[in-house]
Amino acid sequence: MAGLYLHIPFCTQRCVYCDFYFVTTQRTTAPFVRAMEAEIEAYGREFGTQEPVETLYLGGGTPSLLPLEEVAHLIAAVEQHFDTSALAEVTLEMNPENATPDYLRGLKALGVTRLSLGIQSFFADDLAFMNRAHDAAQAEAAVEAVGAVFDDFSVDLIFGLPEQPFEYWGANLEKAVRLGAPHLSTYSLTIEDRTPLAKQVALGRVSPVTDETMRERFLFTMEFLTARGFDHYEVCSFSKPGHRSRHNQGYWRHRNYLGFGPSAHAFWKTTRSLAHRWSNVRHLGRYQALLEQHELPLDEREQIPPDALADEHILLSLRLMEEGLDLARLRDEYGVDLRLEKRAALADLERGGLVTVTDDRVRLTREGAVVADAVALKLIG
Ligand code: SF4
Repeated sequence: MAGLYLHIPFCTQRCVYCDFYFVTTQRTTAPFVRAMEAEIEAYGREFGTQEPVETLYLGGGTPSLLPLEEVAHLIAAVEQHFDTSALAEVTLEMNPENATPDYLRGLKALGVTRLSLGIQSFFADDLAFMNRAHDAAQAEAAVEAVGAVFDDFSVDLIFGLPEQPFEYWGANLEKAVRLGAPHLSTYSLTIEDRTPLAKQVALGRVSPVTDETMRERFLFTMEFLTARGFDHYEVCSFSKPGHRSRHNQGYWRHRNYLGFGPSAHAFWKTTRSLAHRWSNVRHLGRYQALLEQHELPLDEREQIPPDALADEHILLSLRLMEEGLDLARLRDEYGVDLRLEKRAALADLERGGLVTVTDDRVRLTREGAVVADAVALKLIG
């Protein structure tokens, strides 16, 4: 079963760390929604009957800037052009300033089942540093408002902000748990190229925290949340039973997905060894213009060679802390015998306490989760 991702590229202002594609100048979203409906219809003709859709995810950008009737149009387009008989989860990313009771109830009535709430911090100085559009009071009120309408929701928090006291991070986790969040996504602050934050770092105005500080915060996070009944099911994701993100698990399990909207990506595997990846243009005006001319808004499209496909599978499935990387599946589906091909690297990682190898599966330890990408890089190529 497949996942569908709709990228809604509108924000009220630019957060300093963000490198997603978005615009802050759009007055009306209606032409964009019409373009996206056309894109959904076009892909529906090719993929609509190939696999039922299991999950739909509206991300961004800030999807919660869309009026309810436009969210309704997009969901209706998906239902019209794809097989949604098995649709199990519809997630919408929301920023705290949009979490009004009417809007939340409206989303629920439209069939949205899960919200992903971009809190990032409950502290005013953290929010000011990140240039978030909400304040600390709105952050807390939003979690309460969302929890009053939705059983299933996630709170995003960021750790490792320069000069953020350790107590702030503990208090952020504590507050999210106390407010009843059944799922948390915790991200370390990353300094991405071409962001305002990268510029500030280059100018010497901001000093990134050390790797050791990041490690301590992350180890604390794992300890804190698992002690409070959360399953650490993916490197950055913690869930109470029954609240895992189905959509994101689809990515990590290397399932097919289609992406709509400017800058969105898609991955589609047709047979064991034949898979394609493609991406859309990263420009709202061009995206809309191409669809108005009945053309797909494609930027790049590539066939993924079998060895690259196997590497991708290793990178993604290692992120699943409990499931780990299934070595038998890797052998059968991708033709890679890691025990033979990476015997020395696996032994090194195991000796270093970064992975365990049991039941024909490789799993990250907590120390391994801190450096998950570096661990995966030792096992690919
Ligand atoms: S609201 Fe989200 S997408 Fe928009 S700038 Fe901030 S982090 Fe980026």
